[in-house]
Amino acid sequence: MSKPEIRQHLDDMKADDAERLARFNTGGSSGEPLIFYIGSRRVSHDVAAKWRATRWWGVDIGDPEAVIWGSPIELGAQDKIRLLRDKLLRTHLIPAFEMSSEKLDGFIRQIQQIRPKMLFGYPSALAHIASHAEKKGVALNNLGIKVAFVTSERLYDHQRAKIESVFACPVANGYGGRDAGFIAHQCPEGGMHITAEDIIVEIVDKQGQPLPNGELGEIVVTHMATRDFPFIRYRTGDMGILSDKVCACGRGLPLLEEIQGRTTDFVVAQDGTVLHGLALIYVLRDLEGVDSFKITQDSLDKTTVQIVKTLKYQAAYEQKIIDEFKKRLGQAVTIKIEYTDYIPKERSGKFRYVISHVKA
Ligand SMILES: [Zn+2]
Repeated sequence: MSKPEIRQHLDDMKADDAERLARFNTGGSSGEPLIFYIGSRRVSHDVAAKWRATRWWGVDIGDPEAVIWGSPIELGAQDKIRLLRDKLLRTHLIPAFEMSSEKLDGFIRQIQQIRPKMLFGYPSALAHIASHAEKKGVALNNLGIKVAFVTSERLYDHQRAKIESVFACPVANGYGGRDAGFIAHQCPEGGMHITAEDIIVEIVDKQGQPLPNGELGEIVVTHMATRDFPFIRYRTGDMGILSDKVCACGRGLPLLEEIQGRTTDFVVAQDGTVLHGLALIYVLRDLEGVDSFKITQDSLDKTTVQIVKTLKYQAAYEQKIIDEFKKRLGQAVTIKIEYTDYIPKERSGKFRYVISHVKA
């Protein structure tokens, strides 16, 4: 299913016996607007998936939560049941679609009063509030916030860093939307775990054919709790990779490679082919004796690889890396290998394996 198909058949898509359908709209990460409906069963599943993920971070049902949301339509759709549910779950909604200085002061006061265990919202909104608090010298690092859940937008490193320092809590990235559901969420070990009981995630090529694990393609989801208004093999427009790795946390839910960094993590071959950074990362990951590494695509003609090696590293690997990189980026590309003792992390504390200065 594609967005144009849903647009064309909006009313036909509703089940004859559907009850209490709520109308939503979304911009989606691809920027394509869509109006659609969600049944109450579906809402329950998505809410349950979210609360399971919050438990991974030490936050449970009943702990106060501040939801910083920017969608006036969703706020307008609040009914009595919604208000009751929010009260029971101690969810406080902060409608952050206006970000004037006075409004920001107000949001900060609200957060101080709520003393939430978790924040939930758009990374841009949370980072903006954090910056404002910092500018005004308001300390928000003493509220006991355990985690900030961010979703619906790409999370930039500078946003993560700002939120983490001002609220003194880790940021947990989520992937999903009102349309596709609660697709995947990060655990404290960093794995993006798929809500596999509810959602079948497939990665497909341009022709819509499923790709094996490890290959980059469009994320297509089937939500099993959507009989009222089905989402079947729904094309999200987002690119991702299914992983067959097992997360260090021990949870059995399968992993989606992080979707974050869709511009910086891509590299471009000399012939213009856009490659996910993983195409290069896999080469280095496969070699014993590579302790850490960083790949920087300086230009279409030059890529630098920094490597911290251990005693197991063999001299012959250098040529192997060069050959494998050239195979992917082009034979005329200069691959420069630098050995170093230490590769610094980003200011956010997160490590970026691939940085490209070439625009895709
Ligand atoms: Zn995990």
